Amino acid sequence: MSELSMSLEPGDLDRLASELSERGTRVVVGTLVDYSGVSRGKSVPIARLRAFHEVGMGTSPLMVVYCVDNLIAFTETLGVTGDVRLRIDAARIRDIGEGMAWGPVNLTDQEGNQTDLCPRSLLARVVARSVAAGLLPTMGTELEFTLTPATGGGVASMPWAAYGMRALTEKRRFVVDLAESLAAAGLAPEQIHAEFGEDQFEVSLPPADPVTMADESVLARIVIGTVAARHNLTVSLSPMPRFGGSGNGAHLHLSLTRAGRNIFGTGDGPHGQTAEGSSAIAGILATLPELLGVYAGSAVSGNRLQPGAWSGAWACWGLENREAAIRFMAGTRGNPHGANVELKVVDPSANMYLAAAAMLGSALHGIENSLSARDEVAGDPAGHAVPQKPLDFDQKKVIDALAESAFAVELLGSQIATGLVAARRHEIEAFASLSPVELAEALRLAWS
Ligand code: GLU
Ligand code: MG
Repeated sequence: MSELSMSLEPGDLDRLASELSERGTRVVVGTLVDYSGVSRGKSVPIARLRAFHEVGMGTSPLMVVYCVDNLIAFTETLGVTGDVRLRIDAARIRDIGEGMAWGPVNLTDQEGNQTDLCPRSLLARVVARSVAAGLLPTMGTELEFTLTPATGGGVASMPWAAYGMRALTEKRRFVVDLAESLAAAGLAPEQIHAEFGEDQFEVSLPPADPVTMADESVLARIVIGTVAARHNLTVSLSPMPRFGGSGNGAHLHLSLTRAGRNIFGTGDGPHGQTAEGSSAIAGILATLPELLGVYAGSAVSGNRLQPGAWSGAWACWGLENREAAIRFMAGTRGNPHGANVELKVVDPSANMYLAAAAMLGSALHGIENSLSARDEVAGDPAGHAVPQKPLDFDQKKVIDALAESAFAVELLGSQIATGLVAARRHEIEAFASLSPVELAEALRLAWS
C-alpha cells in the first residue's frame, strides 16, 4: 500500500505543538477504534507531537482485535509478532480540556505505509473511490446514549417523559456543560435532546465528509463521557443498556452529489431520487443482511433491532419511515441539508469508520451495478399489505453471514473482515451463558 500522506509540514507541527502548549495542553492522546468499536490509543507529552504524527507510536497489530472483555481475537495473520505505528492526524487535534488534547490515528507499518488493518484509512480509500467516480459523499451521525450511575439503576428522580422537558431541566447542568464542552472541542452539535428511553439522551452531529464524521463521533463520545463524569454520571453507549428498555442507535446519514446535484433529490424518481439515488438505496439494502455484522454486530445488538423500536429492524426503505432500515429524507424547507438516506440499524457498538465505509461502499456497489430498489414501504412494515422481512436478530447468524460474504471481503479487505468476524465471534461466545438481562448488564459500559 502507498505511503500515508497527512497534510501538515514539520514547521506547522512545531507551531501547533507550541500553540497547544501555551494554551495549557500537556498531553496528546491519539485514538484507534478497534473492530469491536472500543476506542483505544496512546498518549504522549505534547513535546512529542511531531514524532506522534511523523513517526508514530508502536503497538502490536493485535490492537485492532482486542475484544470488549480485553481478551484478544487472534486470527491466522494476527499473532504475537509484528509491530505497527499509531500515527496521529495532527490536523484533526482538538483540545479536550484539563491539559489534554485528542486526535485520531491512522495505523501504518514501520515504513509509514498504510496498512490494510486500519479502519480510518479504509474509509478514506472508499471516499476517494467515490470521489473518483464523480460522487461527493457527505455523512452525519446521531449519538444516542443512556446516563446511568456506575452501579446501575436509573438517574432520573421522577418518572421519565419521552423527549420531556422535565429531563432537560433536571439535568440542565449536564446538558449546558455538554453544549459548552462540545463547542470547546470544536464540535457543532445540531441537537442535544432527551430521547424516548428512560435516562436516554442524544447528540446529533452535522453532516461532514465521512472521515470527519467518524472522527467527530469518536471525539463527541469522549466529551460526553468526560462531561458526564463531572456530574457523577456514567454514559452507556451500549445498543441495549438495560434489557427490555430502549436501545441506543448511532444512525448514519448519507448524501451524494454528482456535479453539485444531490442524487437523492434532483431526479424524476420517488421523492426526487435520480436513477443513481435509487440504485444507491438498492445497494445498501441488498447488502444489509451480510453487512449487518458491521453495523450492529455486538452480542447485544440483536436485542435492540426489534420491530417497534424505531431501530430500523425491517429490511426496506420508506419516506420518513422510522421502522424501515433506511429512512428516506426528502430535501424540504425543513431539511436544509438536502435529501439523504438514514441507515437506522447502525448502533454505537460499531466501529464508525467501518460502518461508514460499508454504507458508502454498498451505495457505490448499487450505483456501479445499476441495482433497482424495491418499492418503498409506507407505514409500519409490520402490518404492510406486502409481507415484509425483519432482519435476523440472531447475532451468531448475523456474524456467520458476514463471514460468508465475498462482498464484505472485497469492501473491507480480508484482514479487516476476518478480524472483525473473529472479534465478534469471541464476544458472542464469551457471553453465551448469560441471560439477556445479565448480558445487557455485562456490556453496559463496554463502549463507554
Ligand atoms: N433509539 C432508537 C434506536 O435504537 C431510535 C429512536 C429514534 O428514532 O431516534 O435506534
Ligand atoms: Mg434518536
